[in-house]
Order: sequence, then structure tokens, then C-alpha cells
Amino acid sequence: MAFGFDFDHTLGVDNGLERKALYAYVDELGRPLPPDDPTWRKQLDALLALFRAGDITMDEALARFGKLIGVREIRTERWREICYDLVPHLVKPINGARELLTTLHARGIPTAILTNGWTPLQQKKIAHALGDDALAMPILVSDAIHAIKPSRAAFDALVTALGVPRERIWYVGDNPLGDIAGALAAGLRAAWFNWENQTYPQDLPPPTLTIASLRELETPAENTTFP
Ligand SMILES: [Mg+2]
Repeated sequence: MAFGFDFDHTLGVDNGLERKALYAYVDELGRPLPPDDPTWRKQLDALLALFRAGDITMDEALARFGKLIGVREIRTERWREICYDLVPHLVKPINGARELLTTLHARGIPTAILTNGWTPLQQKKIAHALGDDALAMPILVSDAIHAIKPSRAAFDALVTALGVPRERIWYVGDNPLGDIAGALAAGLRAAWFNWENQTYPQDLPPPTLTIASLRELETPAENTTFP
């Protein structure tokens, strides 16, 4: 048995870090945006979503951001630095995440993280949220493996990193499409972490298991009847 984990909203939260970094950047440029204006927030979230889905590059996202606010000299590198600076202020572990990883590692169960995003930021977020337990496992980030969940290639990279037959791997995530449907299509088992009491979409294959707390995953290593 082995475990692959999503990071954002599964092992940790970043509380809108990339969006907040955009706000901080315009503040710095002397062009502050109203922080509570829902229209701006929606536009920036839409832009970041396109970048996260791999539809546009980071440079393109920042260029579009510059156009939106009417500023030409947007520097991607400066935004990245602001993102890094915000990590200790905004990133938090999910309840039970550190404890679960400690338990799995103590039992010798292989673990890895498969996350969509850009490598240096995801690594800093993961290290801050999870500490030493994060350093003991492979961290696969979509920009480095050139594959984005739910693609099969992303989960194939996880299987290779874990070195365990895919049918014995549990993938744990909060996103029904990216995490659960993707893992199931790639032949893994999928645990849907439904900590925000969502309804699972009816048009997607159901998860192998649904959990409301990460601590529920500490039992499989002891319990042979675990699915
Ligand atoms: Mg997630």
C-alpha cells in the first residue's frame, strides 16, 4: 500500500496566496485595488485559474493582469518574490495532516505529493505546512513533470515515484474531477477528502472512499478489511 496526496485543500491551505500577492504587488506600484471589491476578486481568480489549468503561462497571466490594471511594467519575478514572502503568513496545515504523515512514515508506508502548480512556490508551501515530514517524500509538481491533473500522465508519474503497483495506491484529494476522477481513470484508488461538506458531482465516477477527516486514513495500515 502507498499514498499519494493532493496538497492544496487536502494537506494544507494557502488562503488565496497568489491572489493576495497580486493585490500586494499593485499596492507596491502605488495602484492599490479595493480589496473587498468582488468584481476585481472574480477577475483575478479567473486569471489565476487559467494559469493553474495550464491554459496560459505565468508570464501571460501577469501580462494580462498588467493590462487589467493599466500598468505596463509588471514583472513576473517581483510577483514570485511576493508570493514567497506571503507563505509563512498564509499557509497552514489541514487538521491532522502532520499527524497522518508521521504515522504513515513510522509504519514504512510510501507517500508522495502530486500537486498542480509551480515548483518553488509549492515546495515552500509544503515545507511550511508540513515541516520535516514533507522533506521525506517525493513532491511532484505539474510544471516540473509537464503533466497536470487529471491527466493520466500526472498519475503515472506518481506511480513511478511511489514504486508500488497502481492498484495498491490510494490517492487522496478534495477535487472530484482533478483528484478523484483522474486517479480512478489511471487505475488508482481514490479517497475523496470532503472536509467542507460538499456534494459529489453525479456525472463523475464515485470515489473508492469518502473521508471527512485525514485521521481516518491512519486505520488502513492496521485494518486489512480497508477497501
Ligand atoms: Mg486540492
